[in-house]
Amino acid sequence: MDAGERPRAAVVVTGSELLTGTISDRNGPWLSRELVGLGFEVAHVLVVGDRPEDLADALAFGADAGATLVVTSGGLGPTADDLTAEVVASFAGAPLELDEGMRAHIADILAGWASRTGFGGPALEEANRKQAMVPRGAVALAPVGTAPGLVVSRPGGPLVVVLPGPPRELQGMWPAVLDTEPVRELLAGVPSPGARSLRFFGLPESEIAATLRDIGAGRDLSAVEVTTCLRRSELEVDLRPRPEASGIADELHAQLAARHAKHLVSVDGTSTDELLARVLTARGVTVATGESCTGGMLAARLVDLAGSSAYVAGGVVAYSNEAKTALLDVPTELVVEHGAVSPEVARALADGARTRFGADIGIGITGVAGPGGGTEAKPVGYVCFCVTTSDGTLLARDRVLPGSRADIRERATDTGMHLLLRAAGGLPPR
Ligand code: ATP
Ligand code: MG
Repeated sequence: MDAGERPRAAVVVTGSELLTGTISDRNGPWLSRELVGLGFEVAHVLVVGDRPEDLADALAFGADAGATLVVTSGGLGPTADDLTAEVVASFAGAPLELDEGMRAHIADILAGWASRTGFGGPALEEANRKQAMVPRGAVALAPVGTAPGLVVSRPGGPLVVVLPGPPRELQGMWPAVLDTEPVRELLAGVPSPGARSLRFFGLPESEIAATLRDIGAGRDLSAVEVTTCLRRSELEVDLRPRPEASGIADELHAQLAARHAKHLVSVDGTSTDELLARVLTARGVTVATGESCTGGMLAARLVDLAGSSAYVAGGVVAYSNEAKTALLDVPTELVVEHGAVSPEVARALADGARTRFGADIGIGITGVAGPGGGTEAKPVGYVCFCVTTSDGTLLARDRVLPGSRADIRERATDTGMHLLLRAAGGLPPR
């Protein structure tokens, strides 16, 4: 590792079902986030099947790429295709030995399982023995399911952490991994990640690129890795400095926030959803939704976070014109005169939801999700939003959102959340 560089880590995900497209990998991204959060640079995430040669190649590849830590997932089960412990043992040059304490521990777990399911006998004993085989000198981690995890030191590196495939087991075992002696020793030499994050709404990536070019013309920014990622219509900008470049990262962070203040959501990476939950809880105000084209997606987003009962009064999916009138008091004449997708109806939906639920804030969304039903004046993707509050605030927007039916409904939901945050006063002051 050169001075100023971060230690590298690699993730090796195993499982033939991941290569056939039967399931998609959840462990690679989860482990990457954890490792980056610890201060590693994740050099590679490799996905391999259940063939031992492929797993051995992947481990060697990680080592050759300079990884000081390799984390594997999967292949720790009792069946013949579960070979990770064996392959890692041979990679580390350590013979597998029966860990008697672990065998007894797993036997207890299996006994409970056998009495519940009626399966047992020699097959189970064989499974028990197989899963209790530990490379000499390795640390064995207590199972969350039935498979123990392993921390295996290879002479000359890397350190290999071996985890079970089921995401719940892998994640459950992670705190124990961090608590082992070899991992603690390794982490002591990893500089803190020092990452800074910003979030923007309605700002294209090209604007960030232009700002970076502008600032970069005057000074060298190469010691700060900048990544931008669009998630839920928000642009997330992460700054990851080399250990010595923390001052440059601070400056860059401040400049990005200042230059794009109009679109700023947070300076610490907090999402709109979290900010909204915070401000509504802190102010003790409630929200009600009147949704048409989003079909309840906004209400679902609002109740995603624990504690939402404090601020969500309720919502109505008023898809038909009759429902808009009967359930949310949208006047029939308004629909006839302006159309169901109109700023006027969005406002009536907001008012209707607010008054019907006795909430402080109401939001109405109505739009053309497509693919049919668009007109020249109201094309597919045209969506009207309105937020009204009991103290007389009104926030109205209409937009033509791009993409498929699913994209349009998702973006409409994102926009709805953002408008609620704005109306509730939860955005940073400009
Ligand atoms: P088991 O004892 O369950 O066999 P294992 O450690 O051998 O555990 P695998 O056989 O690789 O793990 O995977 C078991 C199941 O866990 C898979 O069928 C799949 O449902 C889930 N799983 C494994 N790896 C992943 C992954 N990377 N992403 C999502 N799910 C996974
Ligand atoms: Mg398995």
